[in-house]
Amino acid sequence: MNTLTAVYPGSFDPPTNGHMDIIERAASFNGRLIVGVLANPSKSPLFSVEERVELLKELTKDIPNVEISSFSGLLVDFCRKVGARIVIRGLRAVTDFEFEFQMALTNKTMSPELETLFMPTSTDYVWISSSVVKEVAMFDGEFEGMVPKLIKDVLDKKFNR
Ligand code: ADP
Repeated sequence: MNTLTAVYPGSFDPPTNGHMDIIERAASFNGRLIVGVLANPSKSPLFSVEERVELLKELTKDIPNVEISSFSGLLVDFCRKVGARIVIRGLRAVTDFEFEFQMALTNKTMSPELETLFMPTSTDYVWISSSVVKEVAMFDGEFEGMVPKLIKDVLDKKFNR
């Protein structure tokens, strides 16, 4: 039997509790879940792709069916390369929907065998985004409930807190 392979793509700059919740829930289906860290040259990330990959590896080390990989270019090409037919995306609010829907249809047009599955955020994480986390870090706020301890520690170090 073929193992189902899914890709959960994103920037993860940095990974948050919202990302971890989606990873854990998507991995619970027991297929192969590849978290794809996007190296996007048009964004200037706080953490390098290598750093984000390392952090996610550490955060998911106890989930055996999760792999972390980086990619650049088109998501459909990455999915083809790793043999994935499913793309997982998290949805926080209706505001996420328009962009996500457009992306899903674009990807489906380019790669008809690819299905995008949306997972609604858990209510505890609905307000959390990497950008909010970075602002909190910059202005010395509290990360309570937003990120795993490892991410709090690396952010504290990065911002000399
Ligand atoms: P991107 O730049 O691709 O949006 P992100 O790292 O911001 O990358 O997000 C990656 C994925 O995780 C997206 O599908 C996004 O909707 C989802 N996501 C981000 N934050 C949360 C959250 N708090 N709850 C659920 N899903 C989330």
